[in-house]
Amino acid sequence: MADFSDIIDQEQMKEHMQHVLRSDKVSHAYIISGENGSGKEFIARIFAKALQCQDKKEKGEYLEACNECPSCIKALSENHPDIITITHEKPASIGVDDIRLKLRDDVVIKPYESRYKIYIIPEGEKMTPAAQNALLKTLEEPPSYIVIIILTSNINAFLPTIISRCIVLPMKVARDDSIRKFLMEECQVVDYKAMLCASFARGNVGKALDLASNERFETLKNETIDLVSKLKNLEIHDIMDRVHGILEPADGDEKSSKKGIDMGQYEDFMDILIFLFRDMLVYKATENDTHLIFTDKVSYISSVTKDISYEEIGHIIKDMEIAKSRISSNVNIDLALELMLLGIKEHL
Ligand SMILES: [Zn+2]
Repeated sequence: MADFSDIIDQEQMKEHMQHVLRSDKVSHAYIISGENGSGKEFIARIFAKALQCQDKKEKGEYLEACNECPSCIKALSENHPDIITITHEKPASIGVDDIRLKLRDDVVIKPYESRYKIYIIPEGEKMTPAAQNALLKTLEEPPSYIVIIILTSNINAFLPTIISRCIVLPMKVARDDSIRKFLMEECQVVDYKAMLCASFARGNVGKALDLASNERFETLKNETIDLVSKLKNLEIHDIMDRVHGILEPADGDEKSSKKGIDMGQYEDFMDILIFLFRDMLVYKATENDTHLIFTDKVSYISSVTKDISYEEIGHIIKDMEIAKSRISSNVNIDLALELMLLGIKEHL
């Protein structure tokens, strides 16, 4: 039963929506923009439920839906006749027929039982130019009772005429600390893991949840740090065999892979390495583990930092940044990783 109080951070967005609810001045069209997993639809549904609620209540600092009236009950079961989600037939695009049939021809029918008729359009960036033009016709002369909420991970895909008729509400990155608290309190994730997932999610709540519930990430982390701890005694072909083992695509997932390397795994692998050496810098400077990301690897981190200089750690981090930028500009990924790991081996 999600409400405004359940939205992590996003203060400006909440403030705007609260102002709308209190002043009763709703616009006909909104764009909520933010990356996948950031919680756009979660927020849109809370806003829609509150707009339609017949008996809104002050709860703490927010004016919230009552969650008890007939409208709220239907909204909660995602079964509200006047909160309509625009789905599309083709996975990759929202065509003109989707918008014509499900929106343009539908807006003329008055709300079934509520004050507003609210349309939510997920993945709005997938609207073709023709679909956007069809939508524009509605935005130019909207019936008084309609509210359209377009969700998108790429606002640049919209015609300027669409954007100029919408109130744009950008999602902000959530604070690491808010995400950590959420994972611990609401999802019963243990503290060190919550901290780790929050750091890796870079402000994206959905990604943090995914990492926290995903065994693959835990395995990747352990195998990557284990590889670093053994680098000194491994030959280069053994090192690369292990790298390939670690970064092997999951069964049937060839889509996001390059030369037998899963690129999603590769990105997390590089982040783990960078965070690991950053932890070494922090530990060397402070000699305590309170600010580390890998608090479960303190004994290894402390043992390495005894013999390595700040300068050497700095070199390693620089080499990793170079490897990352080479790989992103399409240099042979095996070669770039090999050079980078040999560089790390030399310093350890
Ligand atoms: Zn209600």
